[in-house]
Amino acid sequence: MRYDVIIVGAGPGGIFSAYELMQKNPGLKLAVFESGYPLEKRRCPIDGKKVKSCIKCKTCAIMSGFGGAGAFSDGKYNITNDFGGTLYEHIGRQEAIDLMKYVDEINVSHGGEGTRMFSTAGTKFKKLCMQNKLKLLDASVRHLGTDINYIVLENMYNEMKDHMDFYFRTPVEHVEVLADGGYRVRYGEDGQEYADCTRCVISVGRSGSKWMEKICQELDIPTKSNRVDLGVRVELPAVIFSDLTDELYESKIVYRTEKFEDNVRTFCMNPYGIVVNENTNGIVTVNGHSYEGAEKRTENTNFALLVAKHFSEPFKDSNGYGESIARLSNMLGGGVIVQRFGDLVRGRRSNQKRIAEGMVTPTLAATPGDLSLVLPKRILDGIIEMIYALDKIAPGTANDDTLLYGVEVKFYNMEVDIDENLESRHKGLYIIGDGSGVTHSLSHASASGVYVAQQIVRELAKRAG
Ligand SMILES: Cc1cc2nc3c(=O)[nH]c(=O)nc-3n(C[C@H](O)[C@H](O)[C@H](O)COP(=O)(O)OP(=O)(O)OC[C@H]3O[C@@H](n4cnc5c(N)ncnc54)[C@H](O)[C@@H]3O)c2cc1C
Repeated sequence: MRYDVIIVGAGPGGIFSAYELMQKNPGLKLAVFESGYPLEKRRCPIDGKKVKSCIKCKTCAIMSGFGGAGAFSDGKYNITNDFGGTLYEHIGRQEAIDLMKYVDEINVSHGGEGTRMFSTAGTKFKKLCMQNKLKLLDASVRHLGTDINYIVLENMYNEMKDHMDFYFRTPVEHVEVLADGGYRVRYGEDGQEYADCTRCVISVGRSGSKWMEKICQELDIPTKSNRVDLGVRVELPAVIFSDLTDELYESKIVYRTEKFEDNVRTFCMNPYGIVVNENTNGIVTVNGHSYEGAEKRTENTNFALLVAKHFSEPFKDSNGYGESIARLSNMLGGGVIVQRFGDLVRGRRSNQKRIAEGMVTPTLAATPGDLSLVLPKRILDGIIEMIYALDKIAPGTANDDTLLYGVEVKFYNMEVDIDENLESRHKGLYIIGDGSGVTHSLSHASASGVYVAQQIVRELAKRAG
């Protein structure tokens, strides 16, 4: 079996790469290999009745399958270079923004029409934030919502499926460099089966981080790793944040702590949304989403408060550090821990009774506990300081009943050494999306896929001409 291009991973990076290749050069023979299921077969077993919490499936339906980690996400496509990755460092700021806008056009034309684009341009909150030692980052955000995001993915798949070979439930085991300069992708039991290609695009996301590390070792591709973000997910009544979320939907706000001068930031805001479990390599952490459709809305808003931890030599295993802290919460709580803010500042554990009596009804069944036994003091102090700072722009944030779920961890894939074409030291082997460590978001990952597809098409045209 010989393909022109094989794409490993069907998350946003892989999908947009395959889609753009199909559009711009319909004659190409393409294959997409994906560990998980097709979109319609992706099912997380948690049903709230028989299965109440994560049972650590071998392949996590939330993280893997057509649509990648983004499939059941809130579908917030942020168009900005201020966060979501450092794609601009490789391809330039304007190119990155243009590609994110191009991705937005494709989403809109595949079911996203009628969804809203929010923007921080001209907002009064910028000044209000500054007056309270907070910084609001600039961005435009298209909120597809979990339901419309699914429809967009479904429409894209239907358009693509007859023009390329999809191999679902087929994790790629190895990628080998062939003598003719092409690549052999090995899969199946012990990597017995294989397909060859002239060019290979690897887009394995966060769930493929360990595999990516192995491939980089096997192919002698340099990597570096030094960052992990740790924190909690905050859940409060949606009205408390409604002035901000009605106008901006998602606001990325940064606070510099007085005590340690660390930056704490809001991340992944979900108005009227739900808090969910996330399983990364068997470790249960917390995340959130919300829906575009009014019928699925809850009365709560949730967002993460994260502190970035950068390590310097000789320590290299930043993800291992994050995993150990998440494991600690799993050990104490059997999964995610929830605590009332009032209990945290009083130095006591939350219990079922106090949470049930509170004003905020939790949207995730987590174990009441004490986050101070899990998170390092410096990180927890920063989070508490920021909650008081946010209370000044959204009064009520620091109420006793505000819920904090822990831990939320943003694992960063080690950064793979790729050039301005997102190509590794092996010609024709591209590494994109979150798996490259360069992107951390739907829009940046998708844009990296389009960018690589356009590079390949241009190069082929040059050769042919
Ligand atoms: C619950 C949740 C909510 C989120 N919400 C948002 C949001 O609102 N906005 C935002 O910008 N970002 C959000 N994110 C992050 C966003 O989903 C990711 O940044 C994005 O999906 C990255 O795209 P990707 O293609 O690089 O990787 P992924 O989406 O992770 O896709 C990689 C794919 O590769 C497959 N794979 C891995 N290893 C192999 C292998 N060896 N062989 C074959 N296939 C393999 C995986 O199964 C997976 O399907 C959210 C993430 C989660 C988990």
